[in-house]
Amino acid sequence: MLILMKQGATPEQIQAVCRRIREIGFTPHEIPGSIRTAVGITGNQGAVSPEHFQNLPGVAECVPVSRPYKLVSREVKPDPTVVDVRGAKVGDGSLSLMAGPCSVESRDQIFRTAEVVAASGAKFLRGGAFKPRTSPYAFQGLKEEGLQILEDVKRNFDLRIVTEAKDTETLEAVAAVADVLQIGARNMQNFSLLEAAGRLRKPVLLKRGISATLQELFMAAEYLLSLGNYQVMLCERGIRTFETMTRNTFDLSAVVMIKHHSHLPVIADPSHGVGIDWAVPPLARASVLAGADGIMVETHPDPSKALSDGQQSLNFDAYRTLAGELAELAAWQAARR
Ligand code: PEP
Ligand code: MN
Repeated sequence: MLILMKQGATPEQIQAVCRRIREIGFTPHEIPGSIRTAVGITGNQGAVSPEHFQNLPGVAECVPVSRPYKLVSREVKPDPTVVDVRGAKVGDGSLSLMAGPCSVESRDQIFRTAEVVAASGAKFLRGGAFKPRTSPYAFQGLKEEGLQILEDVKRNFDLRIVTEAKDTETLEAVAAVADVLQIGARNMQNFSLLEAAGRLRKPVLLKRGISATLQELFMAAEYLLSLGNYQVMLCERGIRTFETMTRNTFDLSAVVMIKHHSHLPVIADPSHGVGIDWAVPPLARASVLAGADGIMVETHPDPSKALSDGQQSLNFDAYRTLAGELAELAAWQAARR
């Protein structure tokens, strides 16, 4: 159920609706819009009767929500969500570039990368300190030491840090450094982690699971929003198909579908999507034209020596070229809007 307030409804009238929702045992979610405010309801198992609200002052209409992902859907919030990451806005029509290595490997590696990423005009540096790896024998990340390096980068560059929270045990330590908490593909349905991240007031980049449908991605995001964290970005990073020539199958249609069905910003990650360095730039460019709010790419000072995902990481020359092309495409895209 979504309660649409009249245009010009007062804050007191909106609060009275929220109070009534709490009185009947559910959770209100205020959803401000460009024309009017709406109030969503979660916590109910079945339908909620409109009789509770329709006579309250300021209420225009009570409409049932048809989607199971209530708070994530455009149905409840037609206006796009803009996520504010320390002043950098994602989803406001500009293109956000998030770049960096797969893993934080050393201070030197991260500082050299940060210099290139900041000079390219990007506002976000990515890099994992805690790495979820398929093999227990593979590099697992520098962990706390990696977080410390990222903390130092923040002090030296105008860059916001995107880094992964691998589990609930380390979430607090990661959140202390991260400007954007990445929840990785393998954790998309780690419901304890989603609940814990939902309780934090920190932007989250939620990556699509390796075999997850878009509805499952939306439902995973719903965990975050239903707990009050509305600062969520959704990330297409490729899915498992029968194809073996690429690491995953980068689902460009997901970018279009997410934008259509949800108000949350969408970030495209063609690096994990295709898994091959030379194939990343064309897919990154295509993602901008498909309407992505941001592009995440892996870049490394020497991809051949990377401790993870070297095969899909751009060297700095290729990264700089791509960043320039994306800026041009983003300007063209913005002028069309
Ligand atoms: C990553 O971003 O380096 C990563 C591990 O991504 P994913 O969870 O999409 O595999
Ligand atoms: Mn990676």
